Amino acid sequence: MSVPADEPGNPAHAIFERFLRAGECREVLGCFVELCQQLGLQGSGLQLYHGLKAALNYWNAKALWSKLDKKAGHKDYDQGTACAGTKCLVVGAGPCGLRAAIELALLGARVVLLEKRDSFSRNNVLHLWPFTIHDLRALGAKKFYGRFCTGTLDHISIRQLQLILLKVALLLGVEVHINVKFEGLVPPTHKAGGWQAVLQPSSSPLTHYEFDILISAGGGKFVPEGFKRKETRGKLAIGITTNFINRHSRAEVEVAEISGVARIYNQKFFQNLYNKTGIDLENIVYYKDDTHYFVMTAKKQSLLKKGVILQDKADIESLLSPENVNWDALLSYAKEAANFSTNYCLPELEFALNHRDLPDVDMFDFTCMTRSENAALVREHNGSRLLLGLVGDCLVEPFWPLGTGVARGFLAAFDAAWMVRRWAAGTPPLEVLAERESIYQHLSQTSPDNTNKNISQYSIDPATRYPNINLQAIKASQVPGQWTPRGRV
Ligand code: FAD
Repeated sequence: MSVPADEPGNPAHAIFERFLRAGECREVLGCFVELCQQLGLQGSGLQLYHGLKAALNYWNAKALWSKLDKKAGHKDYDQGTACAGTKCLVVGAGPCGLRAAIELALLGARVVLLEKRDSFSRNNVLHLWPFTIHDLRALGAKKFYGRFCTGTLDHISIRQLQLILLKVALLLGVEVHINVKFEGLVPPTHKAGGWQAVLQPSSSPLTHYEFDILISAGGGKFVPEGFKRKETRGKLAIGITTNFINRHSRAEVEVAEISGVARIYNQKFFQNLYNKTGIDLENIVYYKDDTHYFVMTAKKQSLLKKGVILQDKADIESLLSPENVNWDALLSYAKEAANFSTNYCLPELEFALNHRDLPDVDMFDFTCMTRSENAALVREHNGSRLLLGLVGDCLVEPFWPLGTGVARGFLAAFDAAWMVRRWAAGTPPLEVLAERESIYQHLSQTSPDNTNKNISQYSIDPATRYPNINLQAIKASQVPGQWTPRGRV
């Protein structure tokens, strides 16, 4: 029998507090299941949210509900009915998949989210634009992570961001399933049947879930079939990321962050670095967060000279292949760059560990960046339509030192939610697609300077975010043939 949650010493309060503080993906999910069991709550969607709200009626929970209620009360959601009856599948519990899932839940859709992993392990730190900070605060970020953007901080580690968004998503009734990999689509087998997914493990009961919307947020390496990628090849750019343990000592607190020093702006710094260490960089960023995080773009010649890259090779894949990289030399390179750029004031730099329990240092190729040609498409089979939309890195890959990934990723998540709203309202498919592409044209040029300044008014409605947006820049008649409702399956 469940205990009324407003009794003093109510065990549900303790579970809820553990849920708020939980610092691992599995722990969050475990606490949430325990909480629902304790309260005798079942089901999903906004109904579950209302159940939790009614059952957890003490000060700390109430403070969070008032934030989420304010958000949910926005007119775009039509009191959680705008997409009632719509069934969504979201692929990927990265920041953008989770952010999109939250919007779809607020619109009243049924939202199932799949994640192939069972842990959030990325220490790397993301730069947040002012609107993302405002947005996360409005979702109650500080309730889940007290240190969220305190003072002048404008960044967060990827894993903390995922934890915050996962908790919000669960509270709003998103059904989150970890250790489930999306592998493809199964068109409806009979007239008016629904679209289903091929999943790994194939025994997952979710293989029977029928949906009419697929939001793919599987990151840069995962793009569902049917979308074409465009490559932009720039000049050779080799990125290095590294994380060191932050012990939060006084000495560490005093070291200044580097929010982005590019060679063109500070020639002297880079010249000194080269003269003293032989390290030659294009830029470097340092953020103090759960870890001391550095991201830098290194010049190939200096990596060769310092023995990080063993042999020069024409193609970048072979150049950075594990056999051609001296791991110990890479660690020394990253540590020396971190020490020099912080004036040797971070005492005893010790590498934080990654999910493989190895020093958290990585080298990536940013020479070739990809983006999807289109943001959405429609498939139809046996009379059932499926709307597919991309968000996050699988839509546009970001250049990490510029820190655009999450900001543009959230904008795309809002745009995708707006598209689903229009779809659910019965707008003709070609019109929905044409409008989505009209909005997508702007994404790669967005910056905090050319998006609307009134960030408190941002919503899924594109007009609140992009100044002078023309939602009909692309006409339905310009939508290529393969997107038509009778297009490929
Ligand atoms: P992601 O964060 O990549 O999330 C995608 C999620 O989808 C993952 O959890 C993945 O496991 C899951 N997934 C993929 N395929 C499937 C499938 N088939 N089925 C189910 N689940 C699936 N940006 C920076 O600005 N600075 C950095 O230092 C930085 N470091 C990064 C380090 C790594 C290793 C990676 C992968 C990305 C990094 N990024 C960095 C990019 C940044 O994390 C993204 O821009 C941001 O997280 C938004 O991405 P997303 O949600 O679109 O995708």
